[in-house]
Amino acid sequence: MDSDLVAELIDRATRLITEHAEELTALDRAIGDGDHGINMKRGFEAVREDAERLARLDLGGALQQAGMILVRTVGGASGPLYGSLLMGMGRAAGEGAPPPALLAAGIEMVKRRGKADRGCKTMLDVLIPVQETLAQASEGPRPELLRRLRETADRALEETRDMLATRGRASFLGERSRGHLDPGAASSRLLVHAVCDVLEAVA
Ligand code: ADP
Ligand code: MG
Repeated sequence: MDSDLVAELIDRATRLITEHAEELTALDRAIGDGDHGINMKRGFEAVREDAERLARLDLGGALQQAGMILVRTVGGASGPLYGSLLMGMGRAAGEGAPPPALLAAGIEMVKRRGKADRGCKTMLDVLIPVQETLAQASEGPRPELLRRLRETADRALEETRDMLATRGRASFLGERSRGHLDPGAASSRLLVHAVCDVLEAVA
């Protein structure tokens, strides 16, 4: 069960990131250095290359190993941050945490690593609201939960547009960072959709 799930999650996430790499890079060109799509594509393709090995691990082990691959291969600010997210989630999964606690643990690692929180115009501005929705709705019917998670991620990404960036490269632009979506928030939204796609198929 875990093994199919892990393989499908890797495949879907890599596919969505790869398909949208140009878009992510374009967003990063506006308020960063134009490498976010390339970085993420490289990282997820490296994870996919190791998919067979990862799929033999339990969910916790697979998340931790995938996180380590991302740290090694993504580069930029987002590599260590996405690595922290997956490693934090993996550790919590190993301790048997339910999904909302699992995502919360990953978010804590990202916050610590990036010295950031909600409102800094980063990936956290998608991840935190999605975690809140997951915590509120995880007991409800699966299709309704997935719909709400997707909607939350979409809305949260859109809300980064008018934010002032106070972390990462975009913060160098000051007020000029307003009016653009955050690239890391956009990749986080894609990953939320990837997870929902897979869970929808097994529902
Ligand atoms: P770099 O900025 O080094 O080129 P990327 O372009 O791959 O790295 O990633 C940029 C994204 O990383 C940003 O859009 C933002 O979402 C995220 N990010 C940058 N710094 C932080 C931070 N301190 N905390 C959380 N997320 C951050
Ligand atoms: Mg960049």
